[in-house]
Amino acid sequence: MLDRDHFARDAEPIVAWIDSYLREIRTYPVKSTVSPGSIREQIPLEIPEEGASISSIMREFEEILIPGMTHWQHPNFHAYFNANSSTESLLAEMLTAALGAQCMIWETSPAAAELEECVVKWLRDAMGFDEDWEGVIQDTASTATLSAIITAREKVMNFQTNFTGLREKVIRVYCSTETHSSIDKAVAIAGIGRDNIVRIDVDASFRMTSESLDRAITSDLERGMTPCIVIVTLGTTGIMAIDDIASIASVCEKHNVWLHVDAAYAGTALLLPEWQWMIRGVDRADSFVFNPHKWMFTNFDCTVYLVKNVADLIKSFEIDPVYLQTGTRGLVNDYRDWGIQLGRRFRALKLWFVIKSYGLKGIQRRLRHHIDLAADFADWVDSRKELQLMLGPTINYVAFRYQSPHHESLQTVNDFNRELLNRINLSGQVFLSHTLFEGAFIIRVLLGQTYIEADDVERLKATILEEIGNMVQ
Ligand SMILES: *Cc1c(COP(=O)(O)O)cnc(C)c1O
Repeated sequence: MLDRDHFARDAEPIVAWIDSYLREIRTYPVKSTVSPGSIREQIPLEIPEEGASISSIMREFEEILIPGMTHWQHPNFHAYFNANSSTESLLAEMLTAALGAQCMIWETSPAAAELEECVVKWLRDAMGFDEDWEGVIQDTASTATLSAIITAREKVMNFQTNFTGLREKVIRVYCSTETHSSIDKAVAIAGIGRDNIVRIDVDASFRMTSESLDRAITSDLERGMTPCIVIVTLGTTGIMAIDDIASIASVCEKHNVWLHVDAAYAGTALLLPEWQWMIRGVDRADSFVFNPHKWMFTNFDCTVYLVKNVADLIKSFEIDPVYLQTGTRGLVNDYRDWGIQLGRRFRALKLWFVIKSYGLKGIQRRLRHHIDLAADFADWVDSRKELQLMLGPTINYVAFRYQSPHHESLQTVNDFNRELLNRINLSGQVFLSHTLFEGAFIIRVLLGQTYIEADDVERLKATILEEIGNMVQ
C-alpha cells in the first residue's frame, strides 16, 4: 500500500513513463499481435494476498500488459474511427480522478453541473445549432441513441410505457441500410424488438431516400403499427455517407415522427463552418449526438447529446427518490434525469481543458490539417496505377483497394486485398480496417489521430507499397 504522504514521489516515475510513452509512441507496433489467452496466462489465478510495490506493478504493466495493447494514440492508427486524445485531456483526467467526484445531481458538485451546461452550449453554438437546443454529456453515442429511442417511445405512448411496459402496440424504428449497429442494440434494450427496425433504401450517394421512408411509414400506419423514430447518420461507419437531414425531416414532420441524428464521428467537423452544410434542416430534428471522444482530442469516454425539448427527455428519465430530493429542483440541472446513469463522471472538465487550451481556432487548425492530409493521401492513391481510390476523401476518410493489372474476378481481387490488409496490420507500422462496398473488399483509412503529421502519412504509403511488393513479386 502506498503512503498517501508521498504522492508526488510515487507519481514521478509514472509521469515519466507517460512522457516517454508519448514521445516514443511511433516505435511501438500499432496493433497488438498477441495470441488469444496469452495475457491471461501470465496473470495468477489467485487474488494476491499481500500487497506489492508500485514499481513491481509497473514492471508487470510494461512486461505483461503493454505487449497486449493496441496503440490508439499512435499517429498511424487509421482503423475504425479514431478515439483520439491530447495532453490537455490526459492532464484533466488526472484532476478528474483526483477530485473523484460523482456528479449525479447539481448538489453533489455544482461546478461540474454548471461547467457541463456551459461547455455543451459552447459546442452547440460553435457547431451551428440554434439556441433552443440543450444538451448533456453522456458516456457513449450508444447510450445517447438509446436515450433518444426511449424518449421517442415514451412520447408516442403518452409517457405510459415506463409504467405499464409495452402493451399491444407495435412500435417501428426507421434507419438506413448503412446505420450503425448501436441502433439495433438500443432498439432491443428499449423493448421495441429488433424485428421492428425498418431499413430504408439508400440512393447512389448512400443517403436514406425520403420517398422510401415515406412509403415505409405509410404502409406501417395502414397496418396499424406505430411509427416512432427515424435515425439518420452524418458519416456512416463503413463508407462515411452523409444523410440529407432536410428531406428526411419533411417526412418526419408529415407523420409526426421523432428525428434523431447520429453524427458520432463526423459531428466534430461541424466546428468548421465549411462543413456546417451537413446539418441543413437540423432545426426540424429532435435529437443529435456526436463524440468528442472520437475526433475532438478528448479521450474516451465523452459524448455530447443535444435535444430540442429537454422536458421530454427529463420526463422519460426522471425518478425522484426521497433520499435524492433537494431544494434546488428547477433552478439548476440535475443531470441524473437527463439520461440512463445515476452516477456520472466529471467529463466536462476534460472538454473544458481541450477547448480552453486549443481555442476554437486551434481545434479548427488541427481538424483542417487532418482533412488536408486525407486529401493528399487520396490524390496519391489516385496517382498510383496499382491502387484504386474507392471512396472519399470525405472529411478525413479515404477508402482504396489494390487493383490488379490483369482482369481478375471480384473474388480474387477481394482475397488479395484481404491478405494485403492482414499483412499491413501484421507489419506493426500502421493499423487499417476494412468494409464491403458494393461487394468489393475495401480498405478504410482515417487520418484523425491528434498529432498526425505528413511523415506519418509517408509511412502509411510506404507500408502499403512494401506489402503489395511482397505479395506480387
Ligand atoms: C462510433 C459510432 C457509434 C458508436 O459510438 P460509441 O460512442 O462507441 O457508442 C454510433 N454511430 C456511429 C455513426 C459511430 O461512428
